[in-house]
Amino acid sequence: MELNSIDIESIVKQVISEVSGDKGQEVKGIDRVSSPVVPKRAKVAMLTEKRKIEVKEFEIPDISDDEMLIKVEGCGICGTDVHEYKNDPFSLIPVVLGHEGTGEIVKIGKNINQDTVGNSIGIGDKIVTCTIPCGECHNCLTMSDRDNLCENSGIYGLIADDDKKFNGWFSEYLIIRKGSTYFKVNDMDLKTRMLIEPAAVAVHAVERAKSTGLLSFNSNVIIQGCGPIGLMVMAVVRTMGVENIIAVDGDINRLEMAKKLGAKHTVNFRHYKDNEQLKLRIKEITKVGADFAFQCTGVPQAAANIWGFVKRGGGLCEVGFFVDNGNCSINPHFDMCNKEITAVGSWVYKVSDYPITLDFLRRAKGINLPVNDLITHEYPLDELNEAMDTNMKQTGIKIAYVNK
Ligand SMILES: [Zn+2]
Ligand SMILES: [Zn+2]
Repeated sequence: MELNSIDIESIVKQVISEVSGDKGQEVKGIDRVSSPVVPKRAKVAMLTEKRKIEVKEFEIPDISDDEMLIKVEGCGICGTDVHEYKNDPFSLIPVVLGHEGTGEIVKIGKNINQDTVGNSIGIGDKIVTCTIPCGECHNCLTMSDRDNLCENSGIYGLIADDDKKFNGWFSEYLIIRKGSTYFKVNDMDLKTRMLIEPAAVAVHAVERAKSTGLLSFNSNVIIQGCGPIGLMVMAVVRTMGVENIIAVDGDINRLEMAKKLGAKHTVNFRHYKDNEQLKLRIKEITKVGADFAFQCTGVPQAAANIWGFVKRGGGLCEVGFFVDNGNCSINPHFDMCNKEITAVGSWVYKVSDYPITLDFLRRAKGINLPVNDLITHEYPLDELNEAMDTNMKQTGIKIAYVNK
C-alpha cells in the first residue's frame, strides 16, 4: 500500500516534470527516500579531553521522518571551538565540535521538503545550519524578533555527545534533528559556504550599527581588530557602499588583507608609542574622529581605547567579546556623555540574518571582494589538533576542516 502510493506519487511527479520540463527536480523526487552511497559507519573528530581531539568511528543511526543525514564537506574553526578545546568552559566533553559547516543532503526524512525560508530541498542539495532558538524561554516568548537572545539556543557543534553521535560538523556526517534551522545554498562554492556563519556574525553587527541611524555612504568607519570577524565586518560595510574605512590592527598580514577587503587606510597600532599618539593618527585621517567604530578584538584595553576614536555624536558597535576576557574602564564623562555616543552590543546573529548574509556574500562577489581568501588553511579530519594549534598561533586567518 505504502509502496503503491510512492509509485503513484513518482509517476505523477514525472508527468508534471515532463510537462513543465523540470527534469532536475524529478530526479530528486524519485531518490528522496534513501541514497545508495551512504556507508554504515563514519568518523567523527571528538574532543575527548582538554586539548585532545580523537577520531572515532560509529555506526550511523537510522534517521527518522523528521531528520536529515548530511555528508559533511567542510567546516570553519571558530574562536568558540578553540575556547572549548582549551578549557571546556561549556562542560561539553566528550563533544564533536564545529558549527560553521556545510554539506550535502544524502538522506532526508519524508516530513522534510523545504528549508527554513521555504526553498524546496531534497537529496543532493547543499545546506548550512543556523542556530536553534528554544521558542519557550522568556526572551523567545516576548522578543521573537530577537531570537539571538534566546536563553537556551542550540547549535550543531556545541551539543554534548549522545546516542545520535553525529552532532557536530567536525565529522564525516551530521544528523539534522527535528526543529532545526537550515538553508539551501547550492549556488555557492565550498569556501563561501564555510564562511556563511562568521559572515552572519558580521552582518548582524552591521544591522545593529545601522539601527543607530549613523551609518551612511560617506561615513568614516573604523574597524579595530582584523581577525576573521573584523575583516568580515569590513567586507559587509564595504559591500554596503561605505568607502572611508580605517582598519586598525597590529599584524601586517592582517592589515594587507584589510586593504583587499575594502579598507582605505590601515593603521598599525604597534607603530604608535601610546594610545594618545594612535588617537592623533585617527584624528588626522578623519579630521574630527570616526562617525562609527566597530570593536572587533577580544582585548579589554582595546575596547576601552576605541571610545576615544569616535567623534562627538558618533556611534560604536562592540562585537569582539563572545567570551569573557575581563573588564576595562572608560571615562563616562569624556568618552560617552559629553560626546553623546550611541553604542550597541552585538550578539551572534538571528536566524533571519542568514538570508541577508547569503545576499551579502553574493553581492561581495559581485564587486570582486576576495572574501574566500579569508580561508588560509585547510586540514583533514585526523589533523584537527594541528588545525587548533594553527588557530591558536594566529598564523592564518580562517582555518577550516575540509572533508576531501
Ligand atoms: Zn563561530
Ligand atoms: Zn528561547
